[in-house]
Amino acid sequence: MIVDRISVTETDDGWLRTARVSGRSGELMLEFLVPQIDGATLHTGDAAAFLAATLLPAMLGGEDLHVDAPVSAATLAGCREVVTAFARWDHRLRPPVVTTTGPADDRPPGEGTGCCFSRGADSMVSAVVERPPGTALTHLVHVVGLEPVHSPATLAEEVRLARHVGELVGLPVVVPRTNVRLLTDGRCDWADAHGAALAALALATDGLFGRVVIPSTQAVDEIVPFGSSPVLEPHLSSGSVTISHDSVSLDRVGKVWMLARDRPDLLPHLKVCWAEDRPDNCGRCGKCLLTMCALQAADALRLATGFPDRIPLEEIRRLRPAPVQSRQHWVAAARALGSDGERGSTRLAILEALHRAARPGPRERALQWWEFLRGRRTDPAPSWKDPERGFEWRHHTEMLSLLQRGRPDRPISPDAEEPLVLARARPRAD
Ligand SMILES: [Zn+2]
Repeated sequence: MIVDRISVTETDDGWLRTARVSGRSGELMLEFLVPQIDGATLHTGDAAAFLAATLLPAMLGGEDLHVDAPVSAATLAGCREVVTAFARWDHRLRPPVVTTTGPADDRPPGEGTGCCFSRGADSMVSAVVERPPGTALTHLVHVVGLEPVHSPATLAEEVRLARHVGELVGLPVVVPRTNVRLLTDGRCDWADAHGAALAALALATDGLFGRVVIPSTQAVDEIVPFGSSPVLEPHLSSGSVTISHDSVSLDRVGKVWMLARDRPDLLPHLKVCWAEDRPDNCGRCGKCLLTMCALQAADALRLATGFPDRIPLEEIRRLRPAPVQSRQHWVAAARALGSDGERGSTRLAILEALHRAARPGPRERALQWWEFLRGRRTDPAPSWKDPERGFEWRHHTEMLSLLQRGRPDRPISPDAEEPLVLARARPRAD
């Protein structure tokens, strides 16, 4: 994969960074549009953003990667960790040889600290949590272009609401745009790609932000292979942009509980749902249902007016949460709900869904065997999930196979396999 024709142009909407990306899957012009802020000047001499954005796409095509411009030595060195993680999480991915035209000159970091902000529970908490002296946020960063199901009207409303929450928390909101998803859509799960894509966006703000915070998805006891992780994005930091993966001390339920306790005024604007083209929440997808249960546990569902005011227990009973991290989220919700009244009924529905996910009834089991016999799954075990869906699913199925069948899901080759070591992923500078 080759990244060339790298340029920056000043437009009425901000600085437009573009590069041509050519590889086995085709050619496109990759764009990051970065708004101007507070008289700061964009640094233009480092193509680290384009390197971060194209690592996984290059690996998906089985290609090496050449960025035809100088790239920060820090990003070039750190990307070894990232490509090794991707290759460990999916054995079909080979760490690419990464080359550039040389190291970019070091520039002083921008004065701002940005935080990616979507109005989800993770980014709401990151926007308001108390931080050590000298690390306070100066801006929220609401990225346009990462939600392909959104119509122009929904996008405009999302931006308006992000700015409104920014006013409530006392932080200006900047709205960059990118088409980075075009590199991976249809080739892998967006969950596998989104952390590196956000890191790329952060690097594109070089000169404006010296530090960019990416809100965490996983709590410390839930960390499994996943496309946004404390073991990924920070390694892509450059000489002038530090990328932080935010605290992993709270799980989903804890984050909702913290918002309900400390910032109930933000709950009407909580937006976790990406299932439909709308600026509020559908109330039916797994993400919506989990958040509604956490809100009910915190006695705050009525305040979160972007959700329906009642939890459809039948929908919860029908869930078959997987992979394992998702089951952990539901266990946390069940624990927090208690056993009295309406909350107790919600807890029972969750426990039934969790039980049925592991031990389904005869009809579901018969269907799973039917799918197994038709070759649609490689294992009839109820908790088996298609490893092709992404890093997290592959890990889940591998662990399940080891625990249930005493052998890995990925067959062991008759020949000795060369262990994957970091040295194989070492980039070579031209
Ligand atoms: Zn939803």
